Amino acid sequence: MKIFNRGYIHSIETLGTLDGPGLRTVVFFQGCPLRCKFCHNVDCVAPRGGSEYTIDELCRRVLKNKEYWGVSGKDGGVTVSGGDPTYQPEFLLAFIRRLHNQNVHIVIDTSLMTSTKVIESILPYVDLWMVSVKHMEEKKHEYLTGFSNKHILANIRHLDTLLDRKPKLRIRYLVIPGITDTLSALQLFSAFVSKLKSIESVELLPYGTYGVHKWIEMYGTYPLSKVNAATQNHVNAVAKALANVPFQLRTGNT
Ligand code: SF4
Repeated sequence: MKIFNRGYIHSIETLGTLDGPGLRTVVFFQGCPLRCKFCHNVDCVAPRGGSEYTIDELCRRVLKNKEYWGVSGKDGGVTVSGGDPTYQPEFLLAFIRRLHNQNVHIVIDTSLMTSTKVIESILPYVDLWMVSVKHMEEKKHEYLTGFSNKHILANIRHLDTLLDRKPKLRIRYLVIPGITDTLSALQLFSAFVSKLKSIESVELLPYGTYGVHKWIEMYGTYPLSKVNAATQNHVNAVAKALANVPFQLRTGNT
């Protein structure tokens, strides 16, 4: 695969605690193939924007934080997020391969709306895959993201096979009241994750409205304006409905 030496980075968060274990430097890549109606980083979606970096510049920038990554006593390191980092696959590969070779723990936050070739190329350099499932019902997935979920679910199954029972796959599920917490959606989700063999945990995230101001600034409107933010009660109800999944259930913040 050809290596592109420049990438578009929306922003870098130096002390993230929500996107993977320990204290992490979170690198938000610009660009995403999906068009989620609830996107809280809608300014990351366009293919171009943010700042241009070379691999050297980006590595130098994130490695400045190296001293923090071990302080928590867990596996701190770098999380690549976005947007979706797989949208710039060559730059992503070069970046995480370089960090991996310096023993940096790498987490990727992705929807897996990408090719199997990209998944296979970055596989050796990723320590934890955080993959968000947007909706298990195809029509509702299309409504929420603009695309069918068939390709994404196939990619998750493929990744699960590649991981060969190593617990490196965290499935994230956004609890959107009235949309993703229906009985039918949760039954399908439970059946899907229960068949996966390489799960580290399933993480439930409450839908929040804190990204709405970006929609208003960019488009003057927000597609899910009639949907309320999820409360702890919503998340607890989903956790109860998923009590039978054979994995650790986490609840987190978006
Ligand atoms: S996958 Fe993430 S970044 Fe992309 S549109 Fe959906 S919520 Fe936004």
